[in-house]
Amino acid sequence: MIDIHSHILPGVDDGAQTIEDSLDLAREAVREGINKIIATPHHKNGKYENRKLDIIREVAELNEILKIEEISLEVLPGQETRIYGEIIQDYKLGEIVTLNDGGNYLFIELPSTHVPRYTEQLLVDIQFERLTPIIVHPERNQELLQNPDLLYHFVKNGALTQVTAASVSGAFGKTIQNFSIQLVEYNLTHFIASDAHHIKSRSFKMNEAFDVIEKKFGVDWIDLFLDNAELLVQGKSVYREIPEKIRKRKFLGIL
Ligand code: FE
Repeated sequence: MIDIHSHILPGVDDGAQTIEDSLDLAREAVREGINKIIATPHHKNGKYENRKLDIIREVAELNEILKIEEISLEVLPGQETRIYGEIIQDYKLGEIVTLNDGGNYLFIELPSTHVPRYTEQLLVDIQFERLTPIIVHPERNQELLQNPDLLYHFVKNGALTQVTAASVSGAFGKTIQNFSIQLVEYNLTHFIASDAHHIKSRSFKMNEAFDVIEKKFGVDWIDLFLDNAELLVQGKSVYREIPEKIRKRKFLGIL
């Protein structure tokens, strides 16, 4: 299994602080059945900046240590970039790294409270650069929770999304869990990933999430998510079903 979102690099953001933390995460990843993991340190989120060349070097260093420790996990480069106006310029300057440095898929993090008005245009502009934006954990954004049609719009216009495994398993509460399950149901998400930060506070939960999805939707959905992570790492096109608007369910016959 491939995990496309993690904070496994030591000392670069609010994920692993030390190499021991990284190794703890790596061992736990292997226990979860993960053999490849993309390191996606925060970038430009107001607190952390991690540029492409630094990330690539740190990934290589961590892979060396994993080899010495005989942990069979391969770390690949990536980045979790907070949305900002100059993303495309900075990509051209070589500061932004696509997932697995494949030149195809770009993680975009929205602020947790709202969706900036320029988001729609920027997601289109990114695609003009032949990159596919992937909105990370949309289920944890307050504005999208209130107005999921906005996310439908982004996906309809070519953006992909990644839901966090712990959101599906219920670690962020019932509201976020239900919204995450709706995002799966209405074809509004394409990847499930851990966003693991630390084995104690924010671990992988991938298998727990897949158990929930299997019970609700069947095993085919799990295969789709597993395949999509693989296709992404290979730089190929991923599966996307036609997105639908989330319909509010009738409650006791009253809409
Ligand atoms: Fe993250």
